[in-house]
Amino acid sequence: MVDADQTFVIVGGGLAGAKAAETLRAEGFTGRVILICDERDHPYERPPLSKGHLLGKEERESVFVHEPAWYARHDIELHLGQTVDAIDRTAKTVRFGDDGTLVRYDKLLLVTGAEPRRLEVPGTSLAGVHHLRRLSHAERLKGVLAALGRDNGHLVIAGAGWIGLEVAAAAREYGAEVTVIEPEPTPLHGVLGPELGNLFEELHREHGVRFHFGVKLTEIVGQDGVVLAARTDDGEEHPAHDVLAAIGAAPRTGLAEAAGLELADRSLGGGIAVDEHLRTSDPDIYAAGDVASFPLPLFGTRLRVEHWANALNGGPAAARAMLGRDTVYDRLPYFFSDQYDLGLEYSGWAPPGSYDQVVIRGDAGKREFIAFWVREGRVLAGMNVNVWDVTEPIQRLVRSRAVVDTEALADPHVPLAGLVP
Ligand SMILES: Cc1cc2nc3c(=O)[nH]c(=O)nc-3n(C[C@H](O)[C@H](O)[C@H](O)COP(=O)(O)OP(=O)(O)OC[C@H]3O[C@@H](n4cnc5c(N)ncnc54)[C@H](O)[C@@H]3O)c2cc1C
Repeated sequence: MVDADQTFVIVGGGLAGAKAAETLRAEGFTGRVILICDERDHPYERPPLSKGHLLGKEERESVFVHEPAWYARHDIELHLGQTVDAIDRTAKTVRFGDDGTLVRYDKLLLVTGAEPRRLEVPGTSLAGVHHLRRLSHAERLKGVLAALGRDNGHLVIAGAGWIGLEVAAAAREYGAEVTVIEPEPTPLHGVLGPELGNLFEELHREHGVRFHFGVKLTEIVGQDGVVLAARTDDGEEHPAHDVLAAIGAAPRTGLAEAAGLELADRSLGGGIAVDEHLRTSDPDIYAAGDVASFPLPLFGTRLRVEHWANALNGGPAAARAMLGRDTVYDRLPYFFSDQYDLGLEYSGWAPPGSYDQVVIRGDAGKREFIAFWVREGRVLAGMNVNVWDVTEPIQRLVRSRAVVDTEALADPHVPLAGLVP
């Protein structure tokens, strides 16, 4: 049983941090809960930043995890705009803020998330070069897209991953000219492989997006502080008024590393290494969300998952583990995306090289189907595109590791649930 005079400190006020604080109180913890975040905004959800909120369809107020008064009402001590810059594991303290305030913890949760990778090419300090991670970034980008749409301006996006594509869709809705530059041969190559990447290429081309695959951005050309063009390693110059760097995110592990906590190997995505209870190499320190690398025995590896559902579920799981509850975190990776009128959900894990077949159930041409990534007859992952309410059977199929009849898997008339033993 956890004593009422204990102090639990949460570093990072994203979705994982806010949900962990909520769970501590919901589970009856009456000790101190201190949540420290370097952002000035109350904890918010990031998916709308590249979709509804960026498009001006979702109000700013709708992105917050809790209303501001919720924190005081639940006796959560919130320190916003304050960076934690050191952990002393012997004294069990964290140091934060400009005045170096020290606070003692009994249990500590690191939910420091990830930060956008920076382009390392000449010209990145020009005012028209953007990243998208924070609410303030989205609000700035919203103004940029509206102005580009109004003036027939050009946006160059480096990276055809989820954020790059979602912003491309938003920019086209604003009427901006959009060029996407991607070193891989298809969009989303590292997640979906080449088979499904083409679908996204076609979708975006139909909406007027230009793609340049197999090339790297080498320079952002500017004059008097203003972006003029983006240059690629094939010698081409692409007109640009603004550039978005959407080349992925890196886990914010600096604090954990300086404190001597074990990190996961970079080849596995890096991050703070945790066990199945989300506990780090220090038994009083936990980690969850984008920054944590947890073991997934189903796939025989550890994974760092940069998706909303992992923060939504991982924060609460860590909170329960901190309270000494018997908690094993083994959620399947799950994410969703919306681009134009296409909506999708993906469950599982099947990077290129891990599967030997992609099975399509439904009509890929109409963009209403489920794709399954299969190895030796076992489903590793499934993605439903404009088909809904199938996440549960897809996840059961993946978890079952059953060898399925791939003809039945491809046949929309065979109920998915019937394929799970
Ligand atoms: C634009 C965008 C769109 C997305 N869309 C989708 C989507 O459609 N579907 C999906 O599944 N996922 C999506 N995601 C991913 C999802 O939002 C993330 O997985 C989720 O935000 C991770 O939450 P987190 O709490 O782990 O980390 P974060 O949300 O990154 O929160 C970590 C917080 O900790 C703070 N922090 C870090 N270090 C310190 C420190 N030393 N001291 C104090 N504070 C610190 C950070 O500033 C940040 O506020 C999207 C992400 C972005 C950026």
